[in-house]
Amino acid sequence: MNFPELEGNENLKNSLGELEHSNRMPHAVIISGGSESQRALLAKHLSKWAVCSESERPCGKCKNCLNAESKAHSDIYYAEGSGKTNIYNKDELTKIVNDAYIKPNEADRKVYVFEECDRRLPVISQNAFLKTLEEPPQDVLFIMTCENSRALLETIRSRAVEFTLESDDSVSEEALALAKGIAQGIISPSEMKLLRATYLLNDRQLALDALDAVILLLRDGLAVYVGSQAELDVETADTLCRKLTRAKFLKLIELTQDAQSKIYANVSLKLISVWLCAEYRRNVWQK
Ligand SMILES: [Zn+2]
Repeated sequence: MNFPELEGNENLKNSLGELEHSNRMPHAVIISGGSESQRALLAKHLSKWAVCSESERPCGKCKNCLNAESKAHSDIYYAEGSGKTNIYNKDELTKIVNDAYIKPNEADRKVYVFEECDRRLPVISQNAFLKTLEEPPQDVLFIMTCENSRALLETIRSRAVEFTLESDDSVSEEALALAKGIAQGIISPSEMKLLRATYLLNDRQLALDALDAVILLLRDGLAVYVGSQAELDVETADTLCRKLTRAKFLKLIELTQDAQSKIYANVSLKLISVWLCAEYRRNVWQK
């Protein structure tokens, strides 16, 4: 297997190698961790592996591989999503599920790719998908990528083979303390508590790290919300979970990422902290 982008991911490379040699294709694969572009590359690699017509798969040279590389293979379908946030809605899932039972055109298998499922595959669509994963059609591979698979239903995860890319998610104590303050501020009825917490984001690198930690805390909360476990801080996750819905968790994660983009764009930290405080509150407290 030639896959230079997986530098350092030794465990993952081993299990991929085993899978490729075993010639047994799972029905569903979850690709988590790493960066979005690494996940996309690995999804493409697995789609080639599924459709390649040579014995040493993926050869990278046959017509199936070349079409897979340029995302132009008639048996590899990238789910499109709809709406402002590119959600894979229930209608699209139903369409895909029905299509999966029709025989492939050129290859021996069909592949369906769902990207960034923690943001784009809502629970209602996951449920629409579940029955198909329980009794999967023959010769079909479903690939789901996500930053954190804990945002997916446990029933989905248990029916898929997961490949986890390595990501650097170590959190300093200082950043975590700031992040916990912000998380408590988010659900506090008093605006002052959140303002004070975001006001402490007065150093660029520390602010980026603390917001990373806020995202991890929110993901933990979301994990608990869907019946999974928190990894970073159980207490904060439970507290957040009592106040927030799945949609609100996702919105808050998005806002936090927007705040990080503003930091990268050199917007003043004071402006960002005021903006973030207002946006957090508007989203948490609106009906
Ligand atoms: Zn090939």
